[in-house]
Amino acid sequence: MAISAKAVPQAIPRIAPREDLNVFRISQIQFDIAAEHLKLDQGLRQVLRTPKRIMEVSVPTKMDNGQVKVFQGYRVQHNVARGPAKGGIRYHPNVTLDEVKALAMWMTWKCAAVNIPFGGGKGGVICDPKRMSKSELERMTRRFCSEILPIIGPERDIPAPDVYTDSQTMAWFMDTYSMTVGHTALASVTGKPVPLGGSEGRNEATARGCLFVTEEACKTKKMNLRGATVAIQGFGNAGSIAARLFTEKKAKVVAISDSRGGVHNSRGIDPYKAARYKERSGTVVGMPGTSRISNDDLLTMKCDILIPAALETVITLNNADLVKAKIVAEAANGPTTPHADEALAKRGIMVLPDILANSGGVTTSYFEWVQDLQSFFWSEAEVNAKLEAVMKRSFQEVYETSRKNHVHMRTAAYMLAVGRVADATVVRGLFP
Ligand code: GLU
Repeated sequence: MAISAKAVPQAIPRIAPREDLNVFRISQIQFDIAAEHLKLDQGLRQVLRTPKRIMEVSVPTKMDNGQVKVFQGYRVQHNVARGPAKGGIRYHPNVTLDEVKALAMWMTWKCAAVNIPFGGGKGGVICDPKRMSKSELERMTRRFCSEILPIIGPERDIPAPDVYTDSQTMAWFMDTYSMTVGHTALASVTGKPVPLGGSEGRNEATARGCLFVTEEACKTKKMNLRGATVAIQGFGNAGSIAARLFTEKKAKVVAISDSRGGVHNSRGIDPYKAARYKERSGTVVGMPGTSRISNDDLLTMKCDILIPAALETVITLNNADLVKAKIVAEAANGPTTPHADEALAKRGIMVLPDILANSGGVTTSYFEWVQDLQSFFWSEAEVNAKLEAVMKRSFQEVYETSRKNHVHMRTAAYMLAVGRVADATVVRGLFP
């Protein structure tokens, strides 16, 4: 039976028909757009849009029940033209090689966007860390470190935390690396505990960097951060600390969420209470004084600033036209698809792209690496002041590039970053 036009629901379909959500292909599209603006040579484009080195490893791990389980892990080094590869390690059941390749490429552009002397890398292990004990995680981490050890090190490739890994993971990593090479190598990983060569301020750095660039963005939009409403998707390192720091600046966090769902309260949510509640209950859902909201609805709710701080491809053709925020600050990597970028830009929504908005983490990782190499440690105030300078300068550079070239902020950030890596590659020349 033919369906009359009238009977077709007008709502935006839940599944966008045309959009490719493979994150590696998305990362290449983002690169291609910048390469086109920069009119890069075709051969150079091929060099820059593919990873330099990929290592796939099996990670046999003794589980608490005595059985051995083999996890699959990856380390990808996308580019090292400007310095050693740098990037986190993710533990998640949905890790794929394509995802790690995309995340590694984003690290290259991120380090170049804020002009720190690193290339880009990323690691991942397919596992469900929420269902593993601490000792299982320790054994898996140590074996994963040992498997990728031939390609990592302070001058080669420096891991750090990412989704579901933390300073404890990095301590095990550093210890395993050090025991193998025969001396303590503090600079082999970043994001370590402070007493173990970690940097003051590193734990808060991703969220703090995001706050600094959002403050700058507010100035350009003549918006007041004080009193602005903020919705945050994700309550891990970036999201939970962003909730705290934005609240300290008198912004009002009206919604937060985690993998189990979200909560909102138009009068504001206390980030400390939320953290304590999540600590006890394992989720923010059900927090007293809030009502429930889904992760999808959080993204499109009425607010001034939206902070996606969880996983990739959450703002897509499906919901971009429904986003009501004036500023989207990407604390997560890859939350917005290229189609969604265009849709948001058309509506005058300013997206602070991941490679700028969440670069505070790797910038402070760079500070940590420098401190470790020198065995000379800085105060938290010193670290934060240096971070502020990098973030504010980088925002201005991206904003200027965006205005000069009439492109949105992501393409501007890519033009700056890809241009820097391209210049380094050309001036180094091709070996042999
Ligand atoms: N995983 C973080 C990111 O995606 C931090 C990387 C680092 O500090 O090396 O930027």
